[in-house]
Amino acid sequence: MLAPPTLRITEIFLSLQGETSRTGLATVFVRLAGCPLRCRWCDTTYSFQGGETVSLDEVLARVAGFGVSVVCVTGGEPLAQKNCLPLLARLCDAGYSVSLETSGALDVSAVDPRVSRIVDVKPPESGEVARNRWENLAHLGAHDEIKFVLADRADYEWAREVLRERALERVCPVLFSPVQGELAPAQLAEWILADRLPVRMQVQLHKLLWGSAPGR
Ligand code: SF4
Repeated sequence: MLAPPTLRITEIFLSLQGETSRTGLATVFVRLAGCPLRCRWCDTTYSFQGGETVSLDEVLARVAGFGVSVVCVTGGEPLAQKNCLPLLARLCDAGYSVSLETSGALDVSAVDPRVSRIVDVKPPESGEVARNRWENLAHLGAHDEIKFVLADRADYEWAREVLRERALERVCPVLFSPVQGELAPAQLAEWILADRLPVRMQVQLHKLLWGSAPGR
C-alpha cells in the first residue's frame, strides 16, 4: 500500500492576515518548511530547516480545528514541496478561501486556479533578483497579487520600472512593502504619492500588533 502524502510543516496557526488585500482577516496559516532562496532580509529563516512531517489528511484536520474559513499557505517557499499542489486543491475542495504566498522563483502555473497567488518579485537588495521567474507573470489573473518588498530607493526605482514596463497593475493588484527596519514606511509612501503609482502600499499588520515572533 502507498504511504499517504505528507508535507514538512513548520507551523500551523491562527492569526490575522498581515498583508495583501486580505489584511485584517482571521486566517489559518500553514507554513511549509524549506526554501531554496536566501533573501537578505528574510523574516522566516526559522522555516529553512526541520519541520514536522504531517500527512495531508492531518493538515486538513488541524486547519478545520480552528473553525476559520480563510487559509494562507506560506513558507519558506511552499512550492518547493511537491505535495503543496494537492494540499491547495484539497483546501479549495473543502470550501476554504485559499491564498498562497510564493517567492516568484518557482513555477506557479499548476496551482489550483481557485487559489489567490501572492507572487513576490525580488528586487536587487534582496540578493535574489536573478531568481525571478518572469514567465510566472503571464499566468497571473485578477484574483492574484504581485508583491515587491523594498529596502531602499534603488529597489524602489527598480520596482517602478518593472511596474511600468510590464504594466503590472493591469494584471492584478500590485503591493509595495518596505523592509522593516531598513526603509521607513512614510518614506516609501512619499515616493509612491510623488510618482502617482498605481500600487497598494502595505505594512505588515501582524508585526505592528505582535512583533516578529513565530506563530503570529
Ligand atoms: S523566498 Fe521568502 S522564505 Fe525564502 S528566503 Fe526569501 S523571504 Fe525568506
